[in-house]
Amino acid sequence: MTSIAPASPRPADPIIRLEQVSKWYGQFQVLTDISLSVQAGERIVICGPSGSGKSTLIRCINRLETVQQGRIEVDGIDLTAGGRNVDAVRQEVGMVFQQFNLFPHLTILQNCTLAPMRSRGMSAPEAEAVAMKYLTRVRIPDQAHKYPSQLSGGQQQRVAIARALCMTPKVMLFDEPTSALDPEMVKEVLDTMISLADDGMTMLCVTHEMGFARSVADRVIFMADGRIIEQAPPAEFFGQPQHAKTRQFLGQIL
Ligand code: ADP
Ligand code: MG
Repeated sequence: MTSIAPASPRPADPIIRLEQVSKWYGQFQVLTDISLSVQAGERIVICGPSGSGKSTLIRCINRLETVQQGRIEVDGIDLTAGGRNVDAVRQEVGMVFQQFNLFPHLTILQNCTLAPMRSRGMSAPEAEAVAMKYLTRVRIPDQAHKYPSQLSGGQQQRVAIARALCMTPKVMLFDEPTSALDPEMVKEVLDTMISLADDGMTMLCVTHEMGFARSVADRVIFMADGRIIEQAPPAEFFGQPQHAKTRQFLGQIL
């Protein structure tokens, strides 16, 4: 007699999966054997010394960089297979850079409507409605008709976040989004990120804002020399860092 096994609860597939990823710039190995799984809704903070490969790692996740070894999947799409997969993934992954990267010759509204019109085939009125929704969300709808240079750094970074959200991404990547800001503008950007996290957005944030890490992250990842050295929930990561390099790093920034 065979019996049918009851359906056992299975953890959902991760939305991001890296398997033994390695990358070189010429002779220089920038990433070594990186394996990482991120579940939908997870908030990850990545920290580590300058030059440790943090930017390279997250740039690989929307294929701004290619890798020579290993496998990267985003929402089940194999990025390392190339081809049309790249466009598919770019639409699902929003990215916010240290230097905002807004188009200077376009208004705030045009910055936000460009990609949805080009890649999602939205009409102008449709894209504008979406843009205004997210500009309202980041609390700057009144700036829509200005140009980036007319806004403060904090406002520009909030536009960059709104612009990414207009594509309704499944994942948001942040690469030191507050590092280029004057200190008084850091909070408004972190508050925007916290509100995204509260809404359940899957986020990978490279940041040295350890207050943000403590209050928002599900997991903190520490990188050094192109490797993931240590990862843990924030209480554990800050309370009992295991690795000497982690302790040294935390000693320098806290
Ligand atoms: P992090 O973001 O942690 O500061 P990066 O990922 O920017 O680190 O860089 C990791 C290492 O790779 C650094 O040593 C950097 O000089 C090197 N690197 C980054 N981009 C390139 C590139 N395009 N060509 C060659 N080397 C690079
Ligand atoms: Mg970097």
